[in-house]
Amino acid sequence: MPQRKITAVKLREIHELAAGWGKIVARRAFGDDGPDLGVDLTAMEQVAATAANGLNQSTLEILLQQQARCLGAQQPCPDCRRLCLVGSEDRPLAVQGGRITYHEPVGHCPDCRRDFFPPQGFLAPG
Ligand SMILES: [Zn+2]
Repeated sequence: MPQRKITAVKLREIHELAAGWGKIVARRAFGDDGPDLGVDLTAMEQVAATAANGLNQSTLEILLQQQARCLGAQQPCPDCRRLCLVGSEDRPLAVQGGRITYHEPVGHCPDCRRDFFPPQGFLAPG
């Protein structure tokens, strides 16, 4: 069973990794010499927040896609238990700092003529 909770050590490593990307974002936004005296803190915060939102959205989309792949190509129909093909439907999902497109796994049972949503870890409590 893969780990369900991320350890504090792992979270610190991830924070340091992302903090290093701040140098790249700063250089991309204001060049090698940095902002001149006319750039205020609000503009700098806008750059930092935009970078953080992009990182957040991309990370979550990738993790959710990877998790959805764990379901495999077929899942049992919740009514008749027949193994059914699993496709996906795009669904906007609100996350911290914006929205992402979630390619939500959807099964279709031809016998019951119904769609169903296979259970996914992030929807389960705890
Ligand atoms: Zn069915």
